[in-house]
Amino acid sequence: MRYLILSDIHSNREAFGAIVSFVKRKKWDKAVFLGDLVGYGANPNQTVDLLRSLRPLVAIRGNHDKVCSGLEEGELFNRMALEAALWTRQKLTRSNLQWLKALPKGPAVVDGQFAISHGTPVDEDAYIFGELEALNVFRHTDFPICFFGHSHFPVIFALSPDAITTVLTVAPSFRFKLKEGVRYLINPGSVGQPRDGNPLCSFAIFDSDTRVVTIHRLPYKLKQAQKKIMDAGLPRPLADRLALGR
Ligand code: ZN
Repeated sequence: MRYLILSDIHSNREAFGAIVSFVKRKKWDKAVFLGDLVGYGANPNQTVDLLRSLRPLVAIRGNHDKVCSGLEEGELFNRMALEAALWTRQKLTRSNLQWLKALPKGPAVVDGQFAISHGTPVDEDAYIFGELEALNVFRHTDFPICFFGHSHFPVIFALSPDAITTVLTVAPSFRFKLKEGVRYLINPGSVGQPRDGNPLCSFAIFDSDTRVVTIHRLPYKLKQAQKKIMDAGLPRPLADRLALGR
């Protein structure tokens, strides 16, 4: 099976659309979404509609989905994130708001092949930034392979019997074969708001038969996404950061 793995889309219809067009020419069997469909960007409904159109789909919620759909009030959000979340809540159609609200909490196991979580499989709102957090997650779980999001940073952590290693991806199309006997925590990067200094949108394809993960980076109509954020009256830094990849 080939899985299309998407995370942190954040209402960026341009970035998400570029990926959906790109993968039309590639074979994939199931879409897997790791949370944060909305928040920050200017096209919440178009983004929810597009994800709902991908079938079959396995999806879990992220922290922004909870606040944007009203499940949480966002006390821990910074001012800009909260402003965008409350704007999103106003804009969402009733159907899309209900759909977001009903997204399950991670972790989930997909087809017995791998686990998925938004933050970590232990705490959906916690971050994995580096090896210390990754090691802690490995210690408290037993999934051989887990895809996660939330940090908006494409990275692979690998735990062998004697060491933990970090694989940082820089190529526009980075292929990595998973070894037997090694455990992995894999972040496909963010579709709609990358934060690794590279503004290209990021996603992964995982082939469970060959055990190859490919992390792709694609250009998209970034200026159009920025203009929509400005036109919607959302905070300007939310537009600026897209070009910086921060
Ligand atoms: Zn996010």
